[in-house]
Amino acid sequence: MQRKSSRRSTVAKSKSEGAAPSSSTSTTSNRGTEASSSRSQPPKKRQKISGNQAEAAEQPAESCSARGSKCGRKKRKTMLPEMPLDILYEIFSHCEPRELLQLSRTTKAVRATLLSREAAGVWRSSLFAVGLGPQYMMEEVSEPQLAHILYDRFCFYCLCKNATTVVWMALARCCKKCLSKHFPDNKDVLSRYDLSKHESGRLTDIIPHLTVTKVPEAMWPDDEVIYYSLEHLKRYDEEYETVYSDEKALEAWWEEKEQCLDRWIEDREWVKEWFEIEIAVREDFRTTMRIERQVTIVRKLISLGWAPEIQHMGLEMLLAHRQLRKSEYFSEFDWPKIQDEMISLMKVQRKQRLAKKKEAAMAKRYDKVRKVYDSFLQSHCVTFKAVPRFEDIAGRDEIRDLIHERPLSTPLHSADIRQALIDSHPARHQEWLGECDTALVNLMRDALGPAASRTDLRLATTYFSARLYSGDPRNLLSYPQVLDTHRVTRQVASYGTSPRLDPWSSRYLTFDKKIYERARELVALVGKDPDTATADEMDVMDPWFERKAGVEDEERRAMRWREALYSTRNRVSHLVLLDEEDTAVAREALLRSEWKPDLSECRFAKCKHCNKVWCRQPSGNLHIYMHLKAQFVIVSSLT
Ligand SMILES: [Zn+2]
Ligand SMILES: [Zn+2]
Repeated sequence: MQRKSSRRSTVAKSKSEGAAPSSSTSTTSNRGTEASSSRSQPPKKRQKISGNQAEAAEQPAESCSARGSKCGRKKRKTMLPEMPLDILYEIFSHCEPRELLQLSRTTKAVRATLLSREAAGVWRSSLFAVGLGPQYMMEEVSEPQLAHILYDRFCFYCLCKNATTVVWMALARCCKKCLSKHFPDNKDVLSRYDLSKHESGRLTDIIPHLTVTKVPEAMWPDDEVIYYSLEHLKRYDEEYETVYSDEKALEAWWEEKEQCLDRWIEDREWVKEWFEIEIAVREDFRTTMRIERQVTIVRKLISLGWAPEIQHMGLEMLLAHRQLRKSEYFSEFDWPKIQDEMISLMKVQRKQRLAKKKEAAMAKRYDKVRKVYDSFLQSHCVTFKAVPRFEDIAGRDEIRDLIHERPLSTPLHSADIRQALIDSHPARHQEWLGECDTALVNLMRDALGPAASRTDLRLATTYFSARLYSGDPRNLLSYPQVLDTHRVTRQVASYGTSPRLDPWSSRYLTFDKKIYERARELVALVGKDPDTATADEMDVMDPWFERKAGVEDEERRAMRWREALYSTRNRVSHLVLLDEEDTAVAREALLRSEWKPDLSECRFAKCKHCNKVWCRQPSGNLHIYMHLKAQFVIVSSLT
């Protein structure tokens, strides 16, 4: 270490005229032979980059030189070189290497001062201040160059921004694209360079290279990848050409290169370690800075009363905002700079939050009206056969006004809803029924001609089929079953600020002509007039049918009239009406069988024995079956 330090300090002294990274080609040419390619970039491109960076560097330049001065910006810049040099150097030596780099890109005069031989001490003390003592200096790079490698984040090869990789073997910053271009790996290098001619040993052994272990704790050499500096490979190859004929010279050259590589590796190890720690510390610092910034901004917003908005958008979303992701110092004094942006963000959130709140309140009101309506139906309706569902009344003016016009601050009481329902009942009910009937009669007229009338709806021959979706099985509906909303709509209603209603509609219905023809035959079969017999009459009469006798010992199968109507695979001409005796047997058999009808689509059920009405519970249960089981003995046909 002692030896190393002294060696380095003399080296540093001897080449203090080394130029900063963005110097022109002429300056780079008189640097050591091992100088990296980065210092021989075309000057034109270089100037472009330094121009960009000069802008970015303005602020640190001011903060370093003339903070607090009342002079204009322009004047301050020009003032710098006019200062006595010793004062200037004193100021510069308190700057960090990054700031010196930025300063060197401000003006030609400052640049000349900073890159002069006399300024080498400035760079040294600046580097020393960040922990880079003399032992970190390397033969082949000057102090400004070292700062350039460690602090400038553009690619030395293509000049693109944000090159985070430092290629230590070449002492260069490199982007991903240039890495594979300028540093081929051990497989790639053979295809790109002819190495077969170097008989006395592989040239790749002595050129700067980097070994990367793909898998940690690699078990096989295959898991290691070695990257070579192509630039060195070319240069060494040329040198090799000049010495290979002389055996002694070749041996000396080879030895020199080997030693050179050893020294390089040792040198870089020091700086590399420093760099890795520095990166970790910088990252840690940035994280701390960001968290502090986030806490300050969030606290500020909360103090201004935006807590509900933060809650609404979610803290995580807020922290992901542009202004909160920055790793820059933030204090109360910085608030005015971001105030407008943050407040308008909060305003958008407030708008969304209030809209969501209103939406929920509206949905809740609709739900309440639905419940009150259900209980209203239970207590007011005599017949449950043709009652509009909630979907049908939700769009009525009196209901909509009740829900939407009343301010959110005024609660909606059940009594108000009930009153509105009573006021409009039964006139509104009749109105609704009339509209539905008209729509259905129109469907009948489309199929049967203009003679069809409202009374025809109750005929035993009147059936509608609903096709809600293509491929649906035909859903046969008689009257007034067909008025039940959920059977004939797509059930896509949603209730809120702008509700989507789904009232009863004849849109998906057609008058079923086939069933009509079939029903006429069946009605005629029982001796009634198909033009006047109603479905109710048929139900009261309760005729039973069976297939005409086929095979003698086949079990006889009797069916009621609606079943006979629906089982379309049996032609009516193949059916016969059961005589009185057989009908009685069939009815008796039905009574003895277990009675468990499908009530899944019923809203109400009425017990014929005690006239009690059962209403579907919010849980979805209809308790009539339990009631019947408790009141009467239901005997399973199997027992
Ligand atoms: Zn690049
Ligand atoms: Zn009962």
